[in-house]
This record gives sequence, structure tokens and C-alpha cells, in this order.
Amino acid sequence: MKKTCFMKNFVCIICTAFLIFTTVSCGKSKLKNGTYTASVYGNNDYINVQTVFSAGKIASVKVLQHSETRFIGDFAIDTISKDIVDYQTVNADTVSGATVTSAALKAAVQQCITDAGGDISAFNKPVPPKGTKKDTVTVEKADIIVVGSGGAGLSAAVTAAEGGASVIVIEKMPVIGGNTIRCASAFNTADPELQKLLPMTDTLKKAVLKAINEKPVHTAHAQLIKDVKAKYDLYISSGTSTLFDCPEWHALQTFNGGDKVADVALIRKYTENTLDTLHWMESLGMPVRKKVSQGAGALWQRTHQMDSPAGTGIIGPLYEAAVKMNIPIITNMRADKLIVENDRITGVHAVDKFGSEYTYMASKAVILATGGYANNKEMRQKSNPGLTPDMVSTNQPGTTGDGIVMALEIGAGTTGMNYVQTYPLATPRTGTLQGRARKMSGLDNVINVNKEGKRFVNEDARRDAFVAAIKKQTDGMCYDINDSSIVEVKNSFNENVETLVALGRIYKADTLAALEEQLKMPEGSLQKTVSEYNRMVAAKTDPEFGRKLFANPIEKPPFYATPRAPSIHHTMGGLTINTDAQVLDTSGKVIKGLYAAGEVTGGIHGSNRLGGNATADVLTFGRIAAKAVLKN
Ligand code: ADP
Repeated sequence: MKKTCFMKNFVCIICTAFLIFTTVSCGKSKLKNGTYTASVYGNNDYINVQTVFSAGKIASVKVLQHSETRFIGDFAIDTISKDIVDYQTVNADTVSGATVTSAALKAAVQQCITDAGGDISAFNKPVPPKGTKKDTVTVEKADIIVVGSGGAGLSAAVTAAEGGASVIVIEKMPVIGGNTIRCASAFNTADPELQKLLPMTDTLKKAVLKAINEKPVHTAHAQLIKDVKAKYDLYISSGTSTLFDCPEWHALQTFNGGDKVADVALIRKYTENTLDTLHWMESLGMPVRKKVSQGAGALWQRTHQMDSPAGTGIIGPLYEAAVKMNIPIITNMRADKLIVENDRITGVHAVDKFGSEYTYMASKAVILATGGYANNKEMRQKSNPGLTPDMVSTNQPGTTGDGIVMALEIGAGTTGMNYVQTYPLATPRTGTLQGRARKMSGLDNVINVNKEGKRFVNEDARRDAFVAAIKKQTDGMCYDINDSSIVEVKNSFNENVETLVALGRIYKADTLAALEEQLKMPEGSLQKTVSEYNRMVAAKTDPEFGRKLFANPIEKPPFYATPRAPSIHHTMGGLTINTDAQVLDTSGKVIKGLYAAGEVTGGIHGSNRLGGNATADVLTFGRIAAKAVLKN
């Protein structure tokens, strides 16, 4: 705003004084008073930020609108907005696990400062430490100490508290939820109520017959086949035409899908309890859609999907239940050592972000729910030399195998550490699960093509087979191709599809020819592939690659193409447990007082985890661990 003075031809004393005051009080910055807004793309969408300046200072920072993930992005927004105002700095500490949101918010405030004529360097001092290291070791006590606040940890904690135990959860990150809150919330379970809406085709019958006529690899496999066969014979004799499924068939597919190296007893315990877990989670408020489909690499139409962004529909209800039951969840608290007394695990040693030490003593048990090791590059390469450090991952930074390290130190056994899953359809370069044109609602309306516009795989294949096929394509990537019939305003990660199109992350066109042109594919290639696919949908058979699922043809414009590439996703190996989730030592003996659940364990998924089996596993085994502690 231009200011004029009525004493035009004189040196105005008041104006000069004002000028001197402003310059002195703001240093180099000539920050104008007023309200400024800026919009910067965060993790899921633009973050709209309003900054108010007054007397050369940042008076307030308010996020007017955002779509960042609950518990991660909103925590970063609250913390950083406050720090910026309290410490008059855009150099506020990044919230670990929410780096993209943190950076976007700080960039938006910087933009506001620049727009207000300010100088960023005047607002750039570091935030002083908010605490100091204590000289004493703090001792906390509970019946059960849970390490990790992902799906397994929170389901164990809530189940234990429901059973009357006192529980403390410790979490090393500033935010809760682990990988579970970043997942696409696919949950596999046989579910007669919803599966009776789906037809049983001849191709699907053939898949069952193939599995039950295989030569068993051991007696547990033979028994499982026998049990599936008994259920399948009953199903056939009932004359029903709807989809066949049962916990035993889910178990057999899990075992076969993991190359028959997993522990059948663990798998059976898992699949026998998934429906109960689903209903329990629903009772806590998990928003399950009333439709099942087949998620990527799920092998059967038993994938349930949550009606909420990413994994917030899983972590949200668990967190709220934990709060209601007064379960302390201590963030920024990293467990680093198990405490052993008289041949029993009695607690964990932990360190907070200032280096202060704590011991969390457990009168009943410690439950390790620390997740996998996809972001421990050394551990993953040691277990599987092919996993070079340059490979990207879908995981949060805290996924570093700490539970495995701590348990190995006290003699725990591990199972299948070399089995690490790469997810076929992640975002190229960043490796995240995000960025799609559609909700994660099964594969039946999507095809994958290479840069030449050709299909190269059966899209309902196992994940490892899918990855191997993608790696052989030009630039090791492919495109999801779908039409508008399955596109909603937001995808499963709360991203706005039109914004992703505008940012060039998704391609969209009114005709397949135009899409082909955008993607620089050979003329006619994509059009030919889609019309061939549409013919397959009508015939319900894929002679070239053997795809089994065909729902609708790809025909409703506009058409979408989303670039996809493999990313390290899940570590199938981990601590050896029994069916009560007790950790076993290297000779197979129970380690008293120590339980483990979720991705930190091995033996359930074998060499290849089926898509949608992780969420169901971590929540189910979290409950199994808690119930076993209460019982033992
Ligand atoms: P799961 O799916 O098995 O529950 P998640 O990845 O969802 O696994 O959650 C594991 C959680 O454990 C993450 O939030 C992670 O930050 C936390 N965690 C990992 N190591 C430690 C540790 N040493 N101390 C406390 N928490 C940990």
C-alpha cells in the first residue's frame, strides 16, 4: 500500500520515524503487514496456507485446506505451524515420516513472506531443542508393553486392554500408524455374506481343482488339501453358483502363493481368524465397503477395502479405542534392547529423542510389533543380495527391522529372511503406492501395458511374477490403463485425480488414439490392445496370458494411463513364532515373556505374500498375541 503524507514538501518527521522503526525492528526484512495465502502441493494435494504478518512478525499460520493423511500430515501441520509462529522461523524441524507435508507447509509460508516483501533469511534460525537429556533412567510399568503403533501393535494393545490388562505402547516415530496407515487398506478374508454376490466361473473352478489335485509337499499340506477338498465337495453338491471360499481355501492359496515354504499351522491360525478380526474392527468403526474384489496379487475375490484414505480407516478406529481405554501411546520413544531377567523377557530399554533413557517393565509380556525391514538397506541386502541400496521402497522410514535386531540379541530365531516382496505397481522413482487414477477396487477393470502399448502379463498374477514381467519391459515400467467408469474425484490416497492429471502424473484423453499419442506409443497399438481385451471380456478367457478376472470392457471415455513401476514393499521373513505368537529361539523353544505380531514375524507368507494378506495378518496376529498373553 502506497502511503502519502500531507506535509508533502517537508521532511516528514512522523514518516521518517516510522521508516526507521520498521527498518530497525525487522532487520533486512521489509515485511508488510497483512494476510497472504499460498498453495503448495503436499503429499496428497495442494496445501492452502494463510499467513498473517503484523509489525514485522509472523502473527499466525493457518492451513485453510489440505488433504494430507490423518495422523501423519495433520500432525506435521499442527506442529510446524506452531513452531513457525513461536520461533519466527521457516526453518522449523521437519516431522520425520511426514517430510513431504512438512516441506510443503514451510514452502508455502516462505512464499507468503516473499509476497509480503520480506526476506527469508530473516526467518531462518533453527528451532531450539525443546528438551534435554535426563541423567536418570525413568521406569514405567504395565502388564504388557507393546513396541510399535502400526496395525499389529494397536490391535494387540486394544485387545489386551479389552481383556483387562494395563498396556503401554511405545513408538519410535513422531507419528503413529507405521506402514499400516500408509497402506491401501486391502483386507483378505473369506466372507460368505459378501462373496455370495459373486459368480463362480469355470476358470475359477479349475484353479481350485488344480490346487486340490497337487501332490502334497508334506503332511500339513496334505491335510490342508484334504480339508479344502471336503469343503469343495460339499459346495459342489449344494449346487450353488456363487463364489466358493472358506478359511481352508484361503490358507491353501496363501501357502501355494508363497511357494509352499510357509508354516501351514500359522497360516491356518491366520485364515481361521480373519473374519472375526474384520468384524471386531468393524465394531470399532473400521469403514469396510460392502463389496469384495481381488486386489493386486490377491489371487481370489476376498479383498475387502476400506472407505477411507490410505490406512486411516484401520489406524483411526484403533487409535480412538486406545484413547478411550486410556492406553498411553508414547511417540518418539525408540526401544533398543530387551530386558532379560531369570530367563524371561521382563521389559524393554528405550531412548527418547533427547537421548533420555527409559525402561518399560512388563509384568506379563512384551509384544514386538515393530514392522519389517524394507528400509534397512543393509539388512535387506544381507538377506537378499539382489536388493541393492538404490532400490526404492513403499515403506515409511521407521521400517528398519529393530524388533528383529533386538530379538536376535537375546537368541531369537528367524524364518525366511531372504523373502522380500517388491510391489509391482508403485510410482516410478519415488516408490510410493500413491498416484493412481482409480480407487483400489480390484483389478477386474484395469489392464497393464508396456511403452509399446501391449499387454505383457496376466494382471491377476502373483506379485513376484508381475514384477519379473515388468522388469523385462522397456525402462522397467508399465501403465495402468482404465476407463472413466471406475474413476472417482479422489483415489484411495485422498489425491484428487484431476490434479494428478494437471501435474502430469496421470495421462487422460477422450480417445484411446489421443492417449496413445500422449504416451508416444506406436500408432494403433493401445487401441488394438484394448479392443483385444474387450473381446476377452466378452469371451471370459485370455488365451495369451491366462488372466482369470474380467468384469467390464474398457470403453467409457475419458481414458486414463498411470505410470507404474516396482518398489520394495514387504518383508515376509522375520522372527519365528508359534501359533500363539510367542517368539521362539533358534532351537524352537519358547522365549518366555516375548511375543511378536505383524511384519516383524516370519513364516506366514512364505516367499511371496498375497496382496491383501498383510493387513489381515497384522491385525489378526496382534489380537492372537494379546489373547495368548492374557491366557498364558
Ligand atoms: P505392522 O503392519 O506389522 O503393524 P507397521 O509398519 O504398521 O507394522 O508398524 C510398525 C511400527 O513400529 C511403526 O510405526 C514403527 O515406526 C514402529 N517401530 C519400529 N521400530 C521401533 C522401535 N525400535 N521402537 C518403537 N517403535 C518402533
